[in-house]
Amino acid sequence: MSFKTSFPIIKRIFSTVPIKPKICIVGAGPAGFYTAQHLVKKLEKPEIDIYERLPVPFGLVRFGVAPDHPDVKNVIHTFTKTAQNPNVRFLGNINLGSNVTLEQLKNAYHVVLLTYGAEQSKTLNIPGENINNVIEARKIVGWYNGIPWDTDLNIDLSGEKVAIFGQGNVAIDVARILLTPIDELKKTDITQHALDAISTSKIKTISLIGRRGPLQAAFTIKELREMLKLRNCNTIWQPQDFIGVSEHLPTLVRPRKRLTELMLKSLKEQNDSACNKEFKPIFHRSPLKILGKSKVEEVVLGVNELKGDDILNQKSSLTDIRESIKCDLVVSSIGYKSVQADKDIPFDSHRGIVNHFNNKVDKGVYVSGWLGTGPTGVILTTMGNAFAVADLILQDMKEENLLNNNKGGFEEIIKLLNKQNVQVVSWQDWEKIDQFEQSEGKKNWETEGEDS
Ligand SMILES: Cc1cc2nc3c(=O)[nH]c(=O)nc-3n(C[C@H](O)[C@H](O)[C@H](O)COP(=O)(O)OP(=O)(O)OC[C@H]3O[C@@H](n4cnc5c(N)ncnc54)[C@H](O)[C@@H]3O)c2cc1C
Repeated sequence: MSFKTSFPIIKRIFSTVPIKPKICIVGAGPAGFYTAQHLVKKLEKPEIDIYERLPVPFGLVRFGVAPDHPDVKNVIHTFTKTAQNPNVRFLGNINLGSNVTLEQLKNAYHVVLLTYGAEQSKTLNIPGENINNVIEARKIVGWYNGIPWDTDLNIDLSGEKVAIFGQGNVAIDVARILLTPIDELKKTDITQHALDAISTSKIKTISLIGRRGPLQAAFTIKELREMLKLRNCNTIWQPQDFIGVSEHLPTLVRPRKRLTELMLKSLKEQNDSACNKEFKPIFHRSPLKILGKSKVEEVVLGVNELKGDDILNQKSSLTDIRESIKCDLVVSSIGYKSVQADKDIPFDSHRGIVNHFNNKVDKGVYVSGWLGTGPTGVILTTMGNAFAVADLILQDMKEENLLNNNKGGFEEIIKLLNKQNVQVVSWQDWEKIDQFEQSEGKKNWETEGEDS
């Protein structure tokens, strides 16, 4: 039987089966896992795929958080529960930018969420930055935490004096790890190669140098307390840095007030008690030049004054006064920045973040975590941001009709990966890696026990 009409017929299949939301998350750090956790709770049977460049998950929780902070690493248990949900899939060893493009992910998924973090360091941009033993904090962190490409870091710990530029928590982490007595470090999660190197270290003094004053210090109270409690290490403040500081105490909000009070208390109590090591916070100084022949010997600092009425946001301004300090190792810890992983990602190279408006990059494309906020805030801050982005995605699914057609999801992407012979690491594969790491760690621990 033939059927003819005068107008074109559109074949339509009416189905009552709802379209399965296919969501792709790029980056298996806190932002990625927390967003997945929220989405998987709210959506009925979604397909959430977490793509990760490394064969292992957890981002900076594994490779950033200091090895002597095991409590912080406990979030891994929550992330593991999310990864074990049947509607979530971990896909390790896949790099956005080289194995797969943003365009390909957009074609295969209803939603693409970028959470690939901020893994590069900001540079000092001063003469001498490339002299031997001038090292980015990021690399030292990678070295003591086991990032494969930082394992062979060329760090010389045979000198007594270290200058760290930057006064954030990462700078304090590095100072603490380098000053902690070796018998205490042994009990942490630190890599064996870093432990071996630090056990021969001759470091005695670490200066933590910041552009602004105590009222603008970027470290937090927990990290400062740990420094003050460090065995065999004296914290030495410069009294002149604190002139006029106590006058502002009544106007400060609680966390800043408590931090400032702790610094003032420690300054008041400081003495020359017999400790082998010193931690010296130095304020109002900018690094101008690094000097040295075969290796770093000295840094030239400019003395700053602070300008602006808003005390907490005052800016540093260089005066004509210069001074220099001797040092054998320089660590630059002035912040992290992101990269444009794919040419189609709108990127602000100046700020080092993905361009977005309220975490939305484009229709169906979102950003969360350090890639969108910049490298500030702790895991809790990242969690808040991730949950907010998950809510936005849920809202847009309805309001912008994101689920208007079926998508291929990972079935489409795996075809592209197979052509490149990419060996995808599944969650089960990661569990085997984890078991191996843990059993090797136990062996070392037992051998240590026999030796001591
Ligand atoms: C040295 C250091 C110490 C810290 N210590 C603490 C602490 O003690 N307590 C605390 O609360 N917070 C701490 N933080 C902050 C905390 O780590 C961050 O808030 C949090 O990790 C940010 O999460 P994220 O998911 O945005 O980024 P990340 O944790 O960086 O995760 C990004 C993930 O994306 C992956 N990725 C990168 N590029 C690609 C790509 N092209 N394709 C696919 N995947 C990619 C990365 O491998 C990584 O797994 C620390 C940060 C640093 C740097």
